[in-house]
Amino acid sequence: MESDTIVAVVTPPGEGGVGIVRASGPLSGALAESLFPRLRLPWPSHRLRHGDLVDPVSGRVLDQALGCLFRGPRSYTGEDVFEIHCHGSPLLLEAVLGTCLEQGCRAARPGEFTLRAFLAGRLDLSQAEAVLDLVRARTNAGLELAAGQLTGWLSGRVEPIRVELVGVLAHMEAMVDFVEDDIPPQADAATQDALRDAGTAIARLLEGAEQGIVLREGATLAIVGSPNVGKSSIMNGLLGQERSIVTAIAGTTRDTIQESLQVRGIPFRAVDTAGITRTDDLVEQIGIDRARSALRTSDIVLAVFDRSRPLNGEDDLVLQALAETASENERRRVVGALNKSDLPPRLGLQELATRVPGARLVECSALTVGGVDALRAALEEAALGASRHEMVVSNVRHQDALRRAGEALGVTLAGLKAGLPLDLISFDVRAAVQALGEITGANVTEELLDRIFRDFCIGK
Ligand code: GDP
Repeated sequence: MESDTIVAVVTPPGEGGVGIVRASGPLSGALAESLFPRLRLPWPSHRLRHGDLVDPVSGRVLDQALGCLFRGPRSYTGEDVFEIHCHGSPLLLEAVLGTCLEQGCRAARPGEFTLRAFLAGRLDLSQAEAVLDLVRARTNAGLELAAGQLTGWLSGRVEPIRVELVGVLAHMEAMVDFVEDDIPPQADAATQDALRDAGTAIARLLEGAEQGIVLREGATLAIVGSPNVGKSSIMNGLLGQERSIVTAIAGTTRDTIQESLQVRGIPFRAVDTAGITRTDDLVEQIGIDRARSALRTSDIVLAVFDRSRPLNGEDDLVLQALAETASENERRRVVGALNKSDLPPRLGLQELATRVPGARLVECSALTVGGVDALRAALEEAALGASRHEMVVSNVRHQDALRRAGEALGVTLAGLKAGLPLDLISFDVRAAVQALGEITGANVTEELLDRIFRDFCIGK
Protein backbone atom coordinates (compact mmCIF):
# COMPACT_ATOMS: atom_id res chain seq x y z
CA MET A 1 0.00 0.00 0.00
CA GLU A 2 1.24 3.49 -0.89
CA SER A 3 2.22 5.78 1.93
CA ASP A 4 1.41 9.15 0.41
CA THR A 5 -2.00 10.75 -0.02
CA ILE A 6 -3.01 11.70 -3.54
CA VAL A 7 -5.56 14.32 -4.48
CA ALA A 8 -7.29 15.51 -7.65
CA VAL A 9 -10.34 17.32 -8.91
CA VAL A 10 -12.35 14.40 -10.26
CA THR A 11 -15.11 16.27 -12.07
CA PRO A 12 -14.47 17.67 -15.57
CA PRO A 13 -12.94 21.13 -15.94
CA GLY A 14 -15.31 24.07 -16.28
CA GLU A 15 -18.35 25.35 -14.44
CA GLY A 16 -20.87 22.89 -13.08
CA GLY A 17 -23.52 22.46 -10.43
CA VAL A 18 -21.17 20.39 -8.31
CA GLY A 19 -17.43 19.80 -8.36
CA ILE A 20 -15.69 16.97 -6.54
CA VAL A 21 -12.20 16.81 -5.07
CA ARG A 22 -11.05 13.36 -4.00
CA ALA A 23 -8.12 12.37 -1.82
CA SER A 24 -6.86 8.86 -1.14
CA GLY A 25 -4.28 7.79 1.41
CA PRO A 26 -3.48 8.01 5.10
CA LEU A 27 -4.03 11.78 5.38
CA SER A 28 -7.70 11.50 4.35
CA GLY A 29 -9.05 11.44 7.91
CA ALA A 30 -6.93 14.44 8.97
CA LEU A 31 -8.05 16.29 5.84
CA ALA A 32 -11.70 15.79 6.77
CA GLU A 33 -11.06 17.20 10.23
CA SER A 34 -9.07 20.22 9.12
CA LEU A 35 -11.27 21.20 6.16
CA PHE A 36 -14.55 20.85 8.09
CA PRO A 37 -13.34 22.06 11.53
CA ARG A 38 -16.85 22.91 12.74
CA LEU A 39 -18.21 19.37 12.44
CA ARG A 40 -18.30 17.10 15.44
CA LEU A 41 -15.67 14.35 15.77
CA PRO A 42 -15.11 11.54 15.17
CA TRP A 43 -15.90 11.57 11.46
CA PRO A 44 -18.22 8.68 10.66
CA SER A 45 -17.32 6.51 7.67
CA HIS A 46 -19.45 6.32 4.52
CA ARG A 47 -21.73 9.17 5.56
CA LEU A 48 -22.24 12.42 3.68
CA ARG A 49 -21.91 15.45 6.00
CA HIS A 50 -22.78 19.05 5.31
CA GLY A 51 -20.89 22.01 6.74
CA ASP A 52 -18.57 24.97 6.27
CA LEU A 53 -15.60 24.12 4.09
CA VAL A 54 -12.73 26.09 5.59
CA ASP A 55 -9.20 26.89 4.48
CA PRO A 56 -7.32 25.77 7.61
CA VAL A 57 -4.45 28.21 7.02
CA SER A 58 -6.47 31.45 6.71
CA GLY A 59 -9.58 30.24 8.53
CA ARG A 60 -11.64 31.57 5.61
CA VAL A 61 -14.89 29.78 4.74
CA LEU A 62 -14.55 28.65 1.13
CA ASP A 63 -18.02 27.17 0.57
CA GLN A 64 -20.93 25.34 2.10
CA ALA A 65 -20.08 21.82 1.06
CA LEU A 66 -20.51 18.11 1.59
CA GLY A 67 -17.74 15.85 2.78
CA CYS A 68 -17.61 12.07 2.84
CA LEU A 69 -14.95 9.94 4.45
CA PHE A 70 -14.64 6.34 3.31
CA ARG A 71 -12.47 4.40 5.71
CA GLY A 72 -10.38 1.71 3.99
CA PRO A 73 -10.53 -1.02 2.98
CA ARG A 74 -14.19 -0.36 2.08
CA SER A 75 -13.41 2.37 -0.45
CA TYR A 76 -12.67 2.72 -4.16
CA THR A 77 -8.91 2.49 -3.65
CA GLY A 78 -9.00 0.28 -0.56
CA GLU A 79 -7.34 3.15 1.35
CA ASP A 80 -8.95 5.91 3.40
CA VAL A 81 -10.65 8.19 0.88
CA PHE A 82 -12.05 11.66 1.47
CA GLU A 83 -14.36 13.37 -1.00
CA ILE A 84 -15.37 17.02 -0.96
CA HIS A 85 -18.49 17.87 -2.97
CA CYS A 86 -18.59 21.63 -3.34
CA HIS A 87 -20.08 24.03 -5.86
CA GLY A 88 -18.69 23.52 -9.34
CA SER A 89 -16.64 26.67 -9.69
CA PRO A 90 -13.22 26.16 -11.30
CA LEU A 91 -11.68 28.79 -9.00
CA LEU A 92 -13.14 27.21 -5.89
CA LEU A 93 -12.04 23.72 -6.95
CA GLU A 94 -8.54 25.01 -7.55
CA ALA A 95 -8.54 26.60 -4.09
CA VAL A 96 -9.73 23.36 -2.44
CA LEU A 97 -7.12 21.38 -4.35
CA GLY A 98 -4.44 23.87 -3.27
CA THR A 99 -5.56 23.54 0.34
CA CYS A 100 -5.25 19.75 0.20
CA LEU A 101 -1.76 20.06 -1.29
CA GLU A 102 -0.80 22.45 1.52
CA GLN A 103 -2.02 19.85 4.01
CA GLY A 104 0.55 17.38 2.66
CA CYS A 105 -1.24 15.64 -0.21
CA ARG A 106 0.36 15.23 -3.61
CA ALA A 107 -1.32 15.70 -7.01
CA ALA A 108 -2.55 12.37 -8.36
CA ARG A 109 -1.18 11.05 -11.63
CA PRO A 110 -3.52 9.89 -14.42
CA GLY A 111 -5.40 6.77 -13.37
CA GLU A 112 -3.68 6.66 -10.01
CA PHE A 113 -6.87 6.13 -7.97
CA THR A 114 -7.79 3.15 -10.14
CA LEU A 115 -4.21 1.87 -10.06
CA ARG A 116 -4.36 1.92 -6.26
CA ALA A 117 -7.71 0.12 -6.40
CA PHE A 118 -6.05 -2.58 -8.53
CA LEU A 119 -2.98 -2.83 -6.30
CA ALA A 120 -5.25 -3.17 -3.25
CA GLY A 121 -7.18 -5.97 -4.97
CA ARG A 122 -10.44 -3.98 -5.14
CA LEU A 123 -10.55 -4.47 -8.92
CA ASP A 124 -8.70 -6.85 -11.16
CA LEU A 125 -6.84 -5.47 -14.15
CA SER A 126 -9.57 -6.10 -16.71
CA GLN A 127 -12.05 -4.30 -14.45
CA ALA A 128 -9.67 -1.38 -14.02
CA GLU A 129 -9.42 -1.14 -17.80
CA ALA A 130 -13.21 -1.27 -17.98
CA VAL A 131 -13.34 1.91 -15.89
CA LEU A 132 -11.39 3.68 -18.63
CA ASP A 133 -13.57 2.16 -21.35
CA LEU A 134 -16.70 3.25 -19.52
CA VAL A 135 -15.52 6.83 -19.21
CA ARG A 136 -14.39 6.89 -22.83
CA ALA A 137 -17.36 5.06 -24.39
CA ARG A 138 -18.83 6.98 -27.28
CA THR A 139 -21.65 4.61 -28.15
CA ASN A 140 -24.23 2.61 -26.25
CA ALA A 141 -22.63 -0.62 -27.41
CA GLY A 142 -19.26 0.48 -26.03
CA LEU A 143 -20.90 1.50 -22.80
CA GLU A 144 -22.63 -1.87 -22.39
CA LEU A 145 -19.42 -3.79 -23.04
CA ALA A 146 -17.51 -1.67 -20.53
CA ALA A 147 -20.22 -2.04 -17.88
CA GLY A 148 -20.23 -5.83 -18.38
CA GLN A 149 -16.47 -5.99 -18.03
CA LEU A 150 -16.57 -3.79 -14.95
CA THR A 151 -18.85 -6.27 -13.22
CA GLY A 152 -16.18 -8.88 -13.87
CA TRP A 153 -17.63 -10.63 -16.94
CA LEU A 154 -14.23 -11.32 -18.46
CA SER A 155 -12.35 -12.13 -15.27
CA GLY A 156 -15.20 -14.44 -14.27
CA ARG A 157 -14.47 -16.49 -17.36
CA VAL A 158 -10.69 -16.20 -17.56
CA GLU A 159 -9.80 -16.81 -13.93
CA PRO A 160 -11.39 -20.31 -13.67
CA ILE A 161 -9.49 -21.39 -16.81
CA ARG A 162 -6.26 -20.05 -15.36
CA VAL A 163 -6.83 -21.74 -12.01
CA GLU A 164 -7.62 -25.04 -13.75
CA LEU A 165 -4.41 -24.79 -15.77
CA VAL A 166 -2.38 -23.98 -12.66
CA GLY A 167 -3.76 -27.25 -11.23
CA VAL A 168 -2.85 -29.16 -14.39
CA LEU A 169 0.63 -27.68 -14.27
CA ALA A 170 1.13 -28.71 -10.64
CA HIS A 171 -0.05 -32.22 -11.48
CA MET A 172 2.33 -32.43 -14.44
CA GLU A 173 5.26 -31.24 -12.36
CA ALA A 174 4.46 -33.76 -9.66
CA MET A 175 4.39 -36.54 -12.23
CA VAL A 176 7.74 -35.45 -13.62
CA ASP A 177 9.22 -35.54 -10.10
CA PHE A 178 7.86 -38.91 -9.04
CA VAL A 179 8.24 -40.91 -12.17
CA GLU A 180 10.47 -43.93 -12.49
CA ASP A 181 13.77 -43.02 -14.03
CA ASP A 182 13.61 -45.00 -17.22
CA ILE A 183 10.08 -44.18 -18.43
CA PRO A 184 9.42 -40.61 -19.54
CA PRO A 185 6.13 -39.49 -17.94
CA GLN A 186 3.03 -39.15 -20.14
CA ALA A 187 -0.07 -37.10 -19.49
CA ASP A 188 -3.07 -39.04 -18.23
CA ALA A 189 -6.52 -38.78 -19.80
CA ALA A 190 -7.80 -36.32 -17.20
CA THR A 191 -4.92 -33.95 -17.90
CA GLN A 192 -5.53 -34.16 -21.61
CA ASP A 193 -9.23 -33.46 -21.12
CA ALA A 194 -8.53 -30.47 -18.91
CA LEU A 195 -6.15 -29.00 -21.47
CA ARG A 196 -8.62 -29.57 -24.29
CA ASP A 197 -11.47 -28.00 -22.30
CA ALA A 198 -9.33 -24.95 -21.50
CA GLY A 199 -8.50 -24.56 -25.20
CA THR A 200 -12.18 -24.77 -26.12
CA ALA A 201 -13.16 -22.23 -23.48
CA ILE A 202 -10.54 -19.80 -24.75
CA ALA A 203 -11.64 -20.27 -28.36
CA ARG A 204 -15.22 -19.57 -27.28
CA LEU A 205 -14.15 -16.37 -25.57
CA LEU A 206 -12.46 -15.25 -28.75
CA GLU A 207 -15.62 -15.81 -30.77
CA GLY A 208 -17.00 -12.45 -31.64
CA ALA A 209 -13.66 -10.78 -30.89
CA GLU A 210 -13.82 -9.08 -34.28
CA GLN A 211 -17.25 -7.78 -33.36
CA GLY A 212 -15.70 -6.45 -30.18
CA ILE A 213 -13.23 -4.39 -32.18
CA VAL A 214 -15.99 -3.02 -34.40
CA LEU A 215 -18.20 -2.19 -31.40
CA ARG A 216 -15.34 -0.40 -29.76
CA GLU A 217 -13.48 1.24 -32.62
CA GLY A 218 -16.29 1.53 -35.13
CA ALA A 219 -16.25 1.03 -38.88
CA THR A 220 -15.74 3.44 -41.72
CA LEU A 221 -18.69 3.94 -44.03
CA ALA A 222 -18.55 5.38 -47.54
CA ILE A 223 -21.80 6.53 -49.03
CA VAL A 224 -21.78 6.55 -52.83
CA GLY A 225 -24.37 6.96 -55.52
CA SER A 226 -25.18 9.13 -58.49
CA PRO A 227 -26.57 12.62 -57.86
CA ASN A 228 -30.06 12.97 -56.41
CA VAL A 229 -30.58 9.33 -55.43
CA GLY A 230 -30.94 10.47 -51.81
CA LYS A 231 -27.50 9.98 -50.25
CA SER A 232 -27.71 13.08 -48.07
CA SER A 233 -31.30 12.32 -47.11
CA ILE A 234 -30.35 8.79 -46.06
CA MET A 235 -27.41 10.09 -44.10
CA ASN A 236 -29.72 12.52 -42.34
CA GLY A 237 -32.21 9.72 -41.72
CA LEU A 238 -29.47 7.63 -40.12
CA LEU A 239 -28.24 10.58 -38.10
CA GLY A 240 -31.74 11.51 -37.07
CA GLN A 241 -31.08 15.16 -37.74
CA GLU A 242 -30.29 17.55 -40.55
CA ARG A 243 -26.57 17.53 -41.12
CA SER A 244 -25.63 17.80 -44.78
CA ILE A 245 -27.49 20.11 -47.13
CA VAL A 246 -30.27 18.37 -49.02
CA THR A 247 -31.38 19.94 -52.30
CA ALA A 248 -33.04 18.83 -55.51
CA ILE A 249 -30.20 20.28 -57.59
CA ALA A 250 -27.89 17.48 -58.72
CA GLY A 251 -24.38 17.63 -57.36
CA THR A 252 -24.84 19.77 -54.27
CA THR A 253 -22.91 17.43 -51.98
CA ARG A 254 -19.62 18.50 -53.46
CA ASP A 255 -17.17 17.35 -50.93
CA THR A 256 -16.78 14.42 -48.60
CA ILE A 257 -18.12 15.18 -45.14
CA GLN A 258 -16.90 13.15 -42.17
CA GLU A 259 -19.65 12.33 -39.73
CA SER A 260 -19.74 10.09 -36.71
CA LEU A 261 -22.98 8.26 -36.31
CA GLN A 262 -24.34 5.38 -34.31
CA VAL A 263 -26.28 2.65 -35.98
CA ARG A 264 -27.74 0.26 -33.42
CA GLY A 265 -25.02 1.28 -31.01
CA ILE A 266 -22.21 0.68 -33.49
CA PRO A 267 -19.99 3.67 -34.20
CA PHE A 268 -19.62 4.50 -37.88
CA ARG A 269 -17.42 7.19 -39.31
CA ALA A 270 -19.39 8.07 -42.36
CA VAL A 271 -18.15 9.82 -45.42
CA ASP A 272 -21.00 11.42 -47.29
CA THR A 273 -19.33 11.44 -50.65
CA ALA A 274 -20.03 13.43 -53.73
CA GLY A 275 -21.95 11.66 -56.45
CA ILE A 276 -19.69 9.83 -58.81
CA THR A 277 -20.31 11.51 -62.15
CA ARG A 278 -18.30 12.50 -65.15
CA THR A 279 -17.55 16.16 -64.78
CA ASP A 280 -15.30 18.91 -66.02
CA ASP A 281 -15.79 20.92 -62.86
CA LEU A 282 -12.49 20.78 -60.98
CA VAL A 283 -13.98 21.19 -57.52
CA GLU A 284 -16.38 18.37 -58.12
CA GLN A 285 -13.63 16.27 -59.69
CA ILE A 286 -11.69 16.47 -56.41
CA GLY A 287 -14.78 15.20 -54.60
CA ILE A 288 -15.12 12.31 -57.05
CA ASP A 289 -11.51 11.27 -56.61
CA ARG A 290 -12.09 11.22 -52.89
CA ALA A 291 -15.20 9.12 -53.33
CA ARG A 292 -13.16 6.54 -55.22
CA SER A 293 -10.47 6.57 -52.60
CA ALA A 294 -13.15 6.13 -49.91
CA LEU A 295 -14.31 3.06 -51.84
CA ARG A 296 -10.80 1.66 -51.62
CA THR A 297 -10.40 2.19 -47.89
CA SER A 298 -13.81 1.93 -46.22
CA ASP A 299 -14.99 -1.07 -44.25
CA ILE A 300 -18.53 -0.64 -45.43
CA VAL A 301 -19.88 0.92 -48.60
CA LEU A 302 -23.44 2.12 -48.75
CA ALA A 303 -24.28 2.37 -52.46
CA VAL A 304 -27.50 4.27 -52.99
CA PHE A 305 -29.79 3.90 -56.02
CA ASP A 306 -33.08 5.54 -56.91
CA ARG A 307 -35.72 2.81 -57.10
CA SER A 308 -38.19 5.16 -58.75
CA ARG A 309 -36.26 5.24 -62.02
CA PRO A 310 -34.29 2.73 -64.10
CA LEU A 311 -30.50 2.65 -63.75
CA ASN A 312 -28.86 5.36 -65.82
CA GLY A 313 -25.38 6.10 -67.10
CA GLU A 314 -24.36 7.72 -63.84
CA ASP A 315 -25.43 4.67 -61.84
CA ASP A 316 -23.31 2.65 -64.27
CA LEU A 317 -20.31 4.76 -63.26
CA VAL A 318 -20.99 4.05 -59.59
CA LEU A 319 -21.32 0.32 -60.29
CA GLN A 320 -18.15 0.43 -62.32
CA ALA A 321 -16.26 2.23 -59.54
CA LEU A 322 -17.50 -0.40 -57.08
CA ALA A 323 -16.38 -3.25 -59.32
CA GLU A 324 -13.00 -1.63 -60.00
CA THR A 325 -12.16 -1.12 -56.35
CA ALA A 326 -13.51 -4.47 -55.10
CA SER A 327 -10.23 -6.33 -55.53
CA GLU A 328 -8.28 -3.56 -53.78
CA ASN A 329 -10.31 -3.91 -50.60
CA GLU A 330 -11.35 -7.48 -49.97
CA ARG A 331 -12.57 -6.86 -46.44
CA ARG A 332 -15.09 -4.35 -47.69
CA ARG A 333 -18.79 -5.14 -47.46
CA VAL A 334 -21.37 -3.49 -49.67
CA VAL A 335 -24.91 -2.57 -48.73
CA GLY A 336 -27.05 -1.49 -51.67
CA ALA A 337 -29.94 0.82 -50.83
CA LEU A 338 -32.84 1.05 -53.26
CA ASN A 339 -34.09 4.39 -52.07
CA LYS A 340 -37.39 6.20 -52.65
CA SER A 341 -39.44 3.07 -52.01
CA ASP A 342 -42.38 5.39 -51.29
CA LEU A 343 -42.60 6.08 -55.05
CA PRO A 344 -43.72 3.58 -57.73
CA PRO A 345 -40.87 1.14 -58.48
CA ARG A 346 -38.94 1.24 -61.75
CA LEU A 347 -35.88 -0.71 -60.56
CA GLY A 348 -35.99 -4.27 -59.23
CA LEU A 349 -33.87 -5.90 -56.52
CA GLN A 350 -33.06 -8.70 -58.94
CA GLU A 351 -31.62 -6.40 -61.56
CA LEU A 352 -29.35 -4.73 -59.03
CA ALA A 353 -28.34 -8.06 -57.47
CA THR A 354 -26.69 -9.13 -60.71
CA ARG A 355 -24.80 -5.84 -60.93
CA VAL A 356 -23.39 -5.79 -57.36
CA PRO A 357 -22.74 -9.43 -56.48
CA GLY A 358 -22.42 -10.15 -52.78
CA ALA A 359 -24.10 -6.93 -51.66
CA ARG A 360 -26.89 -6.86 -49.12
CA LEU A 361 -29.76 -5.12 -50.89
CA VAL A 362 -32.39 -3.19 -49.03
CA GLU A 363 -35.39 -1.16 -50.12
CA CYS A 364 -35.81 2.02 -48.13
CA SER A 365 -37.19 5.50 -48.12
CA ALA A 366 -35.33 8.38 -46.57
CA LEU A 367 -38.48 10.49 -46.53
CA THR A 368 -40.82 8.25 -44.55
CA VAL A 369 -40.86 7.55 -40.82
CA GLY A 370 -38.94 4.36 -40.09
CA GLY A 371 -38.02 4.20 -43.79
CA VAL A 372 -34.33 3.58 -43.10
CA ASP A 373 -34.78 0.99 -40.32
CA ALA A 374 -34.13 -1.93 -42.66
CA LEU A 375 -31.01 -0.12 -43.76
CA ARG A 376 -29.86 0.14 -40.14
CA ALA A 377 -30.25 -3.62 -39.75
CA ALA A 378 -28.28 -4.26 -42.95
CA LEU A 379 -25.50 -1.91 -41.85
CA GLU A 380 -25.30 -3.59 -38.46
CA GLU A 381 -25.04 -7.01 -40.06
CA ALA A 382 -22.45 -5.79 -42.56
CA ALA A 383 -20.33 -4.22 -39.81
CA LEU A 384 -20.47 -7.20 -37.46
CA GLY A 385 -20.19 -9.83 -40.17
CA ALA A 386 -22.60 -12.15 -38.36
CA SER A 387 -25.42 -12.04 -35.88
CA ARG A 388 -24.57 -10.10 -32.78
CA HIS A 389 -22.99 -11.73 -29.74
CA GLU A 390 -24.29 -10.71 -26.32
CA MET A 391 -20.91 -10.03 -24.76
CA VAL A 392 -17.57 -10.02 -26.51
CA VAL A 393 -13.95 -9.41 -25.64
CA SER A 394 -13.42 -5.97 -27.08
CA ASN A 395 -10.01 -5.02 -25.75
CA VAL A 396 -7.12 -5.80 -28.10
CA ARG A 397 -4.77 -6.46 -25.20
CA HIS A 398 -7.14 -9.09 -23.80
CA GLN A 399 -7.67 -10.62 -27.21
CA ASP A 400 -3.93 -10.86 -27.73
CA ALA A 401 -3.41 -12.55 -24.37
CA LEU A 402 -6.23 -15.01 -25.08
CA ARG A 403 -4.76 -15.84 -28.49
CA ARG A 404 -1.34 -16.46 -26.99
CA ALA A 405 -2.88 -18.70 -24.32
CA GLY A 406 -4.86 -20.58 -26.98
CA GLU A 407 -1.78 -21.05 -29.14
CA ALA A 408 0.28 -22.31 -26.21
CA LEU A 409 -2.44 -24.86 -25.43
CA GLY A 410 -2.53 -25.88 -29.08
CA VAL A 411 1.21 -26.56 -28.97
CA THR A 412 0.73 -28.47 -25.71
CA LEU A 413 -1.93 -30.74 -27.17
CA ALA A 414 0.14 -31.36 -30.30
CA GLY A 415 3.09 -32.24 -28.06
CA LEU A 416 0.97 -34.71 -26.09
CA LYS A 417 -0.18 -36.33 -29.30
CA ALA A 418 3.42 -36.64 -30.49
CA GLY A 419 4.30 -38.28 -27.16
CA LEU A 420 6.70 -35.56 -26.01
CA PRO A 421 7.81 -35.83 -22.39
CA LEU A 422 5.81 -33.92 -19.77
CA ASP A 423 8.59 -31.63 -18.66
CA LEU A 424 8.79 -30.22 -22.19
CA ILE A 425 5.04 -29.93 -22.48
CA SER A 426 4.60 -28.19 -19.16
CA PHE A 427 6.63 -25.29 -20.54
CA ASP A 428 3.76 -24.36 -22.90
CA VAL A 429 1.12 -24.82 -20.21
CA ARG A 430 3.07 -22.33 -18.12
CA ALA A 431 3.05 -19.88 -21.05
CA ALA A 432 -0.75 -20.20 -21.26
CA VAL A 433 -1.13 -19.59 -17.52
CA GLN A 434 1.11 -16.55 -17.82
CA ALA A 435 -0.87 -15.10 -20.73
CA LEU A 436 -4.20 -15.53 -18.93
CA GLY A 437 -2.73 -13.93 -15.83
CA GLU A 438 -1.96 -10.82 -17.84
CA ILE A 439 -5.68 -10.28 -18.37
CA THR A 440 -6.75 -10.35 -14.75
CA GLY A 441 -3.48 -8.93 -13.49
CA ALA A 442 -2.46 -12.10 -11.61
CA ASN A 443 0.91 -11.54 -13.19
CA VAL A 444 1.82 -8.19 -14.66
CA THR A 445 4.95 -6.15 -15.07
CA GLU A 446 5.30 -2.57 -13.95
CA GLU A 447 5.78 -1.61 -17.58
CA LEU A 448 2.40 -3.09 -18.50
CA LEU A 449 0.70 -1.23 -15.65
CA ASP A 450 2.33 2.02 -16.74
CA ARG A 451 1.14 1.47 -20.29
CA ILE A 452 -2.43 0.80 -19.19
CA PHE A 453 -2.84 3.56 -16.64
CA ARG A 454 -1.15 6.40 -18.49
CA ASP A 455 -4.19 6.59 -20.80
CA PHE A 456 -6.49 7.37 -17.89
CA CYS A 457 -7.55 10.86 -17.02
CA ILE A 458 -6.35 12.56 -13.87
CA GLY A 459 -8.81 11.97 -11.05
CA LYS A 460 -9.83 8.49 -12.22
P1 GDP B 1 -28.09 13.16 -53.04
O1 GDP B 1 -27.72 14.09 -54.15
O2 GDP B 1 -27.89 11.74 -53.44
O3 GDP B 1 -27.42 13.47 -51.73
O4 GDP B 1 -29.67 13.30 -52.84
P2 GDP B 1 -30.49 14.16 -51.78
O5 GDP B 1 -30.48 13.51 -50.48
O6 GDP B 1 -30.04 15.58 -51.88
O7 GDP B 1 -31.96 14.00 -52.36
C1 GDP B 1 -32.29 14.41 -53.68
C2 GDP B 1 -33.78 14.63 -53.77
O8 GDP B 1 -34.48 13.38 -53.60
C3 GDP B 1 -34.32 15.56 -52.70
O9 GDP B 1 -35.34 16.35 -53.28
C4 GDP B 1 -34.92 14.63 -51.67
O10 GDP B 1 -35.97 15.20 -50.96
C5 GDP B 1 -35.42 13.48 -52.54
N1 GDP B 1 -35.44 12.20 -51.83
C6 GDP B 1 -34.45 11.65 -51.11
N2 GDP B 1 -34.83 10.46 -50.59
C7 GDP B 1 -36.11 10.27 -50.98
C8 GDP B 1 -37.08 9.22 -50.76
O11 GDP B 1 -36.84 8.21 -50.09
N3 GDP B 1 -38.30 9.37 -51.33
C9 GDP B 1 -38.61 10.45 -52.08
N4 GDP B 1 -39.83 10.50 -52.60
N5 GDP B 1 -37.75 11.46 -52.32
C10 GDP B 1 -36.50 11.38 -51.77
